[in-house]
Amino acid sequence: MEPIMSQIWSRVCQRLYRTSVNPRRSHSGCAEHAAVPASTNSRHTRPTLLVSRLYQPSNLRDVGQDSRSQGEMTCKSQRLMLQAGLIHPSNAGCYYYLPATVRSMEKLMRIIDEEMQGIGGQKLDMPSLCSAELWKTSERWDLMGKELLRLKDRHGVSYCLAPTHEEAVTTLVAHQTTLSYKQLPLLLYQITRKFRDEPKPKFGLLRGREFYMKDMYSFDVSEEAAYQTYEAVCHAYTRLFARLGLRCIQVQADTGNIGGKLSHEFQLPADIGEDRLLVCGNCSFSANVETMSSDSTDCPQCKTGTLVESKGIEVGHTFYLGKKYSDLFNATFSNAQNKPSVAEMGCFGLGVTRILAAAIEVMSTEEAIRWPGLLAPYQVCVLPPKKGSKIDQVAVLAEELVHTLGETLPGLRGEVVLDDRTQMTFGKRLKDANILGYPYVIVVGQRALEETPRFEVICQQTGETMFLSQDGLLDLLGRVETV
Ligand SMILES: [Zn+2]
Repeated sequence: MEPIMSQIWSRVCQRLYRTSVNPRRSHSGCAEHAAVPASTNSRHTRPTLLVSRLYQPSNLRDVGQDSRSQGEMTCKSQRLMLQAGLIHPSNAGCYYYLPATVRSMEKLMRIIDEEMQGIGGQKLDMPSLCSAELWKTSERWDLMGKELLRLKDRHGVSYCLAPTHEEAVTTLVAHQTTLSYKQLPLLLYQITRKFRDEPKPKFGLLRGREFYMKDMYSFDVSEEAAYQTYEAVCHAYTRLFARLGLRCIQVQADTGNIGGKLSHEFQLPADIGEDRLLVCGNCSFSANVETMSSDSTDCPQCKTGTLVESKGIEVGHTFYLGKKYSDLFNATFSNAQNKPSVAEMGCFGLGVTRILAAAIEVMSTEEAIRWPGLLAPYQVCVLPPKKGSKIDQVAVLAEELVHTLGETLPGLRGEVVLDDRTQMTFGKRLKDANILGYPYVIVVGQRALEETPRFEVICQQTGETMFLSQDGLLDLLGRVETV
């Protein structure tokens, strides 16, 4: 072959190779899954997700013991997540996120990406290690106090592990000297690990020292345009929580050490919430207690309603920043008259790990995890009969079913697990499935012996149980929304 031709050919081959091993498109599910070929059914080459092989160790260590390394057992989501093998404590305020949690978080991140990109957001990734110089310019090096996690490198240069990136992103945009008004609004966001030197980490993933956050920064041509962007982000947040089936209240909030003129918090009402909210029963007014100047319980907006106090978990925060950072770092664009003009900014946070833990907190019972449907690590768990029981022969139907579901319903590919721990009774495995909160549990039992086999389907979100043929099952599960 000509040298050029051979180069092209090798590029084509590389592309083909990449396509065939892309785990999201692959026929055989994802490589990171505990996927092994089903040993009893050699006709299928597609691997089955077996519960016995999933790394989801329940009670890695008795949660009652060694409470120092576990952290104080302070809330339901922390206890349930530890017991279910979703998280494991390392050092204070830090956790291992075990595979089921990572699956769930990745789903949440995909939904966040959809919503942020839906309003024009562009994803980037900024260094966690931020130089002290930047933070001194904004004076936050001193203002942040002890919560800022600081360190020095071998040359004695100071850094922080960033909890937020206003300084960094504004510097980046300031470095672009050719930014035109035609390119605004510019919405840049990232989903990365953030750090905070919590004095007393508690509530599991709700108040840790290391966690995932989505932070978005907006740059606009004018105050008016910046307010429009602010509204668009608030709407996107509202839509996000609605998709997750979470009741979320948008409350007026204090701007704190981020600074700026306007701020809202997105709060999930919960008994363990650390924020005190005042909500009007008559109109849409709601505010964080911190922002209220008087003790009056009369609504300042409608004047007739009474404010009622409730507790909330803060899962999102929005700030209109104005020119606070853009002035400081000289983030400018050229306006329609081709003159440099300082950008109007906003910043918008979402606690990713916190949304996940807060959702478990508000949706679960004391004994069993319940997920927002879209975030369940796996949608379906199929239970074959106990080994050696009278209906042992229908076990093969269970395995067939797992394959048929994944093959027929693209949304369920990689979402169906087979509870192959057939040394255990249905009862014991059903109890586990209940605790783990799979939205759908399918029992392949007695009625699978009928001429048209029937499967018992338990919808764990609603508590409903029904007996369906395979067609009925495909019809029901075909409507399950996945991301
Ligand atoms: Zn009111």
